[in-house]
Amino acid sequence: MINATTSPMYKDLDKLLLCSGEIAKRVCALGREITRDYGGRDLVCVCILKGASLFFSDMIRSIDLPLSVDFMAISSYGSATKSSGVVRILKDLDKDIVGRDVLIIEDIIDTGLTLSFLMENLKARGAASLRVLTLLDKPSRRKVELAPDYRGFEIEDCFVVGYGLDYDERYRNLPDIGVLRPEVYSA
Ligand code: 5GP
Repeated sequence: MINATTSPMYKDLDKLLLCSGEIAKRVCALGREITRDYGGRDLVCVCILKGASLFFSDMIRSIDLPLSVDFMAISSYGSATKSSGVVRILKDLDKDIVGRDVLIIEDIIDTGLTLSFLMENLKARGAASLRVLTLLDKPSRRKVELAPDYRGFEIEDCFVVGYGLDYDERYRNLPDIGVLRPEVYSA
């Protein structure tokens, strides 16, 4: 198990924002809410790779309903810490979603440009319903009007890593979420 006091990865963090215990508690609460909202419906949970992978695997185990899973990978052009909103689908869904109740599970909404592209793309595919669950939300940075249907935590304008979120493919395996020291990405 990775230990925050001895792991060298934690030395790159300015501060810890959310510890694994807080995240787990919120995941349970969201799971209860979604279980209540989707009873009797044909739920498909869509994981947006790679950032949402850890959150996704915890979330689906806290939703007490029959459901199916699918995965999408998208790349958003821009610098390593800022997205441009120009999005490319790297891996599409395996199954079609016509008539199904789709819940997109995202890691973080920042400007909202990536998700707004994704919503437009999925809306055209004939789902019965389309909602968004995001672990983190930075509403102060929004460039398009977009509000998630469910969210784990609202956070300030800072660049975070851990629990699936990366910088240059690193830090995804941290059990907690922390603010990355600016020296790490401006070096
Ligand atoms: P948006 O299009 O909403 O600006 O950006 C969404 C994507 O940018 C997220 O799915 C994520 O990949 C990346 N992103 C935005 N903010 C952060 C952050 O604070 N940390 C990390 N690791 N990725 C972020």
